[in-house]
Amino acid sequence: MTIEEDSLTRLVERDQDHECNGFGPSNVCVRVVGIAELPTRVGHFRIVAFWNNRDGKEHIAMIKGDVVGADEVPTRLHSECLTGDVMGSLRCDCRDQLLEGLKLIQSMDRGILLYMRQEGRGIGLINKIRAYSLQDRGLDTVEANLALGFRDDERDYAVAAHMLKSLDVGSIRLITNNPNKIAQLTQYGINVAGRIPHVIPPNEHNRFYLETKAKRSGHYLDPSGKPHLAEQSDEVVVEGMPARSEPPVRS
Ligand SMILES: [Zn+2]
Ligand SMILES: [Zn+2]
Repeated sequence: MTIEEDSLTRLVERDQDHECNGFGPSNVCVRVVGIAELPTRVGHFRIVAFWNNRDGKEHIAMIKGDVVGADEVPTRLHSECLTGDVMGSLRCDCRDQLLEGLKLIQSMDRGILLYMRQEGRGIGLINKIRAYSLQDRGLDTVEANLALGFRDDERDYAVAAHMLKSLDVGSIRLITNNPNKIAQLTQYGINVAGRIPHVIPPNEHNRFYLETKAKRSGHYLDPSGKPHLAEQSDEVVVEGMPARSEPPVRS
């Protein structure tokens, strides 16, 4: 057993009786409750399971290398998307974002991907499917988009911040194309030492990603021409491709 496995595995025992005042407006407190090796098609990770006292969700961290006590650990936040991550839906690019995030972390000495179980930006799978359904039927999508866009951001970052604290990470470099994210984590006491832009060089592995992006030419429109809101809070940029712009405001 290596030293890094020791330091990480010890967290489960440390957290057995962990209680604190919690993070954020809802005082969320998390515990590290399980750690295991997880070989994946992208490379070898360890997976860390967290319990928390608020949302009943089983958030996890994918860990590469030795992160406990480490500084400037590359860190990516990903929100669960069952339709995209698992089923390969083309209504969003969550699966590509997840895979590319894992690949990026795997290419580094160490890194963390926090997989937040916040399906449909926190509205849940059922409501996300209902929003899709409204869009399919060409009904006015304002309500659907509002539903899909609703998200309790403050709580999201509170949980993520506590998870990073629980991993005893000294400081992180956030993998994001959205510099505003740094402020959100910083306000919960996370030392964000920098930002790593999530720009993927084009290669044979992401040809599909490029093709889908190209088809969308900057926007993802459903068959009736209505814009979708992005499901991840910030997008991946593929080198040479225009960034997805904000959905046009409908008048
Ligand atoms: Zn706590
Ligand atoms: Zn998605």
